[in-house]
Amino acid sequence: MPVSKKEKIHKVKTFTKKTSCLNCRKRGIKCEKEDSEENCSLCTRQGKKCIIFKPQYMEKHIVELTEEVRRNKEEIQDLKIRVTNLEKSHNKLLLNLKQRSILDEELKLEFNF
Ligand SMILES: [Zn+2]
Ligand SMILES: [Zn+2]
Repeated sequence: MPVSKKEKIHKVKTFTKKTSCLNCRKRGIKCEKEDSEENCSLCTRQGKKCIIFKPQYMEKHIVELTEEVRRNKEEIQDLKIRVTNLEKSHNKLLLNLKQRSILDEELKLEFNF
């Protein structure tokens, strides 16, 4: 029994408040991470990215964040194209409606509705 307890203590790292990951710090809870895991237990449970501001993690996170920014830019570009397309069809619809109302007006005049 004492052996397994010892093993567990050895395996699970508990960060101090200063080195807690961002999510745990926000919640003000203890950040626990297994050596084999990349995320702490809370982040793993919530499926979040575990961000710890430590010099040795910084480079990795900068690379990851840069990649995320790049992906977001691509998404924005994609959304812009979609909005442009929507605007085009919206304008077309407006034009149709306008023509329709002109036609209605003409019909009204024609038949004295
Ligand atoms: Zn954490
Ligand atoms: Zn975390």
